[in-house]
Amino acid sequence: MRVIIVGGGIAGLSTAWALQKAGAEVVVLEQGPLPNPVGSSVDDHRLIRYPYGTRLGFTRMVAEAYAAWDEMWSDLGECHYVETGTLVLGGPSHADNRATVDTLAKIGLREGHAVEWLTEADLARDYPLLEEAAIASGGYRLSSGGALRCGRIIQSLARHLAFTGLDIRPHSPVIAVDPVGGEVRLASGERLGGDAWSWRRGRG
Ligand SMILES: Cc1cc2nc3c(=O)[nH]c(=O)nc-3n(C[C@H](O)[C@H](O)[C@H](O)COP(=O)(O)OP(=O)(O)OC[C@H]3O[C@@H](n4cnc5c(N)ncnc54)[C@H](O)[C@@H]3O)c2cc1C
Repeated sequence: MRVIIVGGGIAGLSTAWALQKAGAEVVVLEQGPLPNPVGSSVDDHRLIRYPYGTRLGFTRMVAEAYAAWDEMWSDLGECHYVETGTLVLGGPSHADNRATVDTLAKIGLREGHAVEWLTEADLARDYPLLEEAAIASGGYRLSSGGALRCGRIIQSLARHLAFTGLDIRPHSPVIAVDPVGGEVRLASGERLGGDAWSWRRGRG
């Protein structure tokens, strides 16, 4: 299967990585440099953590995301995740916090899911930079959760994909996408087709 991906942010590059592993022929078109400083996926860090209130499906997806990141670190030969733990403000009377505890119990308590409730005094002792008003009703922490070093991930993934032979093209702005026909048009005038194009013509 031939797939054209427009955009070399984390969504585009990680999709390219997964599709290539599944045996697809992939082309990534990025309008600027890679990493592109105007994209959302650069700079230093993005959070990943388990607490998501009542959102059970989303909480389960966090476990799947951790597994996918581990697979990526293995392929890249380097890890760009720093486990810091998660701190949530607001005590047990806060509805969202109670919901999170119930949701974590539903997905099965495992390492990093045990909630440690903190009083105002605990927070003042352990997090002296927090303002008094923020810690007044207490909070909780989990040992799981941390920072994904997003800029480094994009750099490392782009290098890895190019090394493995994937067709990855910086400075290739796309000016038109035909999702039904499976074709994109570049600013250069070049047209590229993916397999939706072949399939619609009975060639896929
Ligand atoms: C301030 C901030 C904080 C955030 N915090 C978190 C967080 O804590 N945890 C978390 O999980 N997420 C967080 N996010 C969200 C996360 O960063 C984004 O969801 C993610 O980076 C989006 O990735 P993307 O690949 O979809 O988009 P982008 O990284 O923006 O990539 C899109 C790429 O497409 C390229 N492009 C666009 N148009 C064209 C075209 N016509 N032709 C060719 N290329 C094109 C762009 O140049 C760009 O490089 C945060 C986002 C921001 C901005």
